[in-house]
Amino acid sequence: MTVARRARFASPGPAGTGAARSSPEIGSAAEAACGRVILLGAGPGDPELITLRGLRWLRQADVVVYDQLVSPELLDEAPPRALRVFAGKSAGRHCLAQSVINGLLVEHAGAGRLVVRLKGGDPFVFGRGGEEALACLAAGIPVEVVPGVSSAIAAAGAAGIPLTHRGLSSSFAVVTGHEDSSKSATVEWERLAGAVDTLVVLMGVGALRAITRRLAAGGRDPSTPAAVIRRATTRDQECVTGTLADIAARAAHLRPPAVIVVGEVVRFAGLPRPGADALANRSDPELEPTSRPTGSGTLATPSIREGTLRVV
Ligand code: SAH
Repeated sequence: MTVARRARFASPGPAGTGAARSSPEIGSAAEAACGRVILLGAGPGDPELITLRGLRWLRQADVVVYDQLVSPELLDEAPPRALRVFAGKSAGRHCLAQSVINGLLVEHAGAGRLVVRLKGGDPFVFGRGGEEALACLAAGIPVEVVPGVSSAIAAAGAAGIPLTHRGLSSSFAVVTGHEDSSKSATVEWERLAGAVDTLVVLMGVGALRAITRRLAAGGRDPSTPAAVIRRATTRDQECVTGTLADIAARAAHLRPPAVIVVGEVVRFAGLPRPGADALANRSDPELEPTSRPTGSGTLATPSIREGTLRVV
C-alpha cells in the first residue's frame, strides 16, 4: 500500500493544546486551516490504554466518528461541542455502511473540521482503517494514523499470558476467525497449526469449535493449552482456559468480543494483569503467584518470585 508516501500526515501530531492544528509539517496557514482525519486507535477497552498522542488529538476533535468497542469514557474526553457519530462497527457488523463512514470522514474534513476516527484497538488491525485512509487520501484529505494498543496483544497480556516466552514461544500470529465468504483469501488453519508457537484469533468466538478442530487436524496437539479472553482490560474481563480439545465446550457460554489464544504460553494465564490490580499493588516488591480465578482453567500456573519467572 502506498499510504505512507501519499499521505499528508499531520505529524508530529498535537504536541500540546492549541498548537496541533498548525503542525509545521503541514506547511502553510491555509493548509493548517484545512480539515484532516486522525485514524485513532482507542485501545482494547480500558480508557487508560489510549496513547498520549491519541488523547491529545481527541481533546481537540470537531467530529468524533466512533465504533462499538470504544470505551464511552473516552468519548467524554472530546470537547463538549464536538459532534459524535456512532458508526457501530463490531466484528464485521456495522450500522453505517463502510462507504457511508468514508463519506462522512471526507465530508467533515473537507469542510475544514478535525475529524477523529476513533476505532477499538489499533485502526489497522481488522479495523478497515486502511480502507478509510485510502478513501480520505483519494479525496485529498490529510490523514494521520495514531496506532493503538490492539486487543490482539493486550487481551493475552491482560490475562497474564505472554505471547512470546523464551523456550516456549518464539513466534505468534494474529488471525481472524470471521471470514468473509466473498473474499478469496481464507485462513489456512491446518497449515497455520504447526507454523507458529502462539496463535491469537480475533472474531473467532462463533467459529471456535471449527477452528480448534481444524488446528488439531493440522497436527496441533489436542492437549495444547488454550484460552478465551472476553472484554479484556475492562471490569467485565473473563478468561476461560482449557486445551485445544476442550476449550470450545468450556468457553461455549462466552459471547464476543473475545480473543482466543492457543499455545504453551497459556499456562501463564492468571499472572497479575496490568491495570487496577497491578497499580494497587505497586508498593509490593514482588509480584505474587496468582490465585486469581481464570475461569475453568486447570492448567499449571506460573509464578514470579524474586524477579524470576518460573512455571510451577
Ligand atoms: N482493531 C481491533 C480489532 C477489531 S475486530 C483491535 O486492534 O483490537 C473486533 C475483534 O477484536 C473482536 O471480535 C474481538 O475478537 C477483538 N476484541 C476487541 N476488543 C476486545 C476486548 N476488549 N477483549 C477481547 N477481545 C476484543
